[in-house]
Amino acid sequence: MRFTTLGTGTISLSPRRSCAGYLLEAAELRLLIDCGSGITRRLAERGDDWRTITHVAITHFHIDHHGDLPSLVFAWKYGFLPPRSTPVEIIGPVGTAALFERLAAAYGAWLTAPGFALSIREIVPGDAIELPGAVRLTCHPVPHTPESVAYSMERGGRRIVYTGDTGPSEALAAWAARCDLLVCECSLPAAMGIPEHLTPEQCGELAGAAVPGHLALSHFYPPVEQVDVRALVGARYAGPVTLASDGWYFDIEDE
Ligand SMILES: [Zn+2]
Ligand SMILES: [Zn+2]
Repeated sequence: MRFTTLGTGTISLSPRRSCAGYLLEAAELRLLIDCGSGITRRLAERGDDWRTITHVAITHFHIDHHGDLPSLVFAWKYGFLPPRSTPVEIIGPVGTAALFERLAAAYGAWLTAPGFALSIREIVPGDAIELPGAVRLTCHPVPHTPESVAYSMERGGRRIVYTGDTGPSEALAAWAARCDLLVCECSLPAAMGIPEHLTPEQCGELAGAAVPGHLALSHFYPPVEQVDVRALVGARYAGPVTLASDGWYFDIEDE
């Protein structure tokens, strides 16, 4: 599996960091996870492989996690010739289908009927979706918005967990335990901490409890970049840490 952090920023718009977006590639699977503002640009910078995304999963309904998704569907419909004919599946928490209906009411019926098969599948905790490439997708509720979930992607005995946006959660730490890569939001410095997001100290506590093989931090609001994130996390978690940037990737071979 290759996991790429396409967008490591937030709605505090940054010249260096796009809003949230991640790409998981494994065999024929090309799963885009979240698709906030700037992710179509980040995909375009990679070349033409934006055309061949097979699945999209969104963690919650904040616009910094799905704002570019209507543009991406429009690009699949009108952005190249011949137009897309292969299906795409959109996965998200309960309410995703209703969100798309509301967006289609604003933008047009093409959003849910773009001329290629577009299906929407809502996932609930306990579901396991078997994706192409022998990847199993599961989710876990997280304290951020009522619908918010974290995702786990498993293949060949290896596991990646992406927290999405979350506040502190012991249940999340237990669910993520011993994953090979934990991609964790790191939104705010402790002085600005709120229950809906994590501080570096709380990222360290989460990783210290979950003990992932590798910790990648993302979703940085500018004020958190003014503190020593690495030291604050390192005091609570001894494993390897990456402060991810847009375009960083991590390869995990099957066991
Ligand atoms: Zn966010
Ligand atoms: Zn959010």
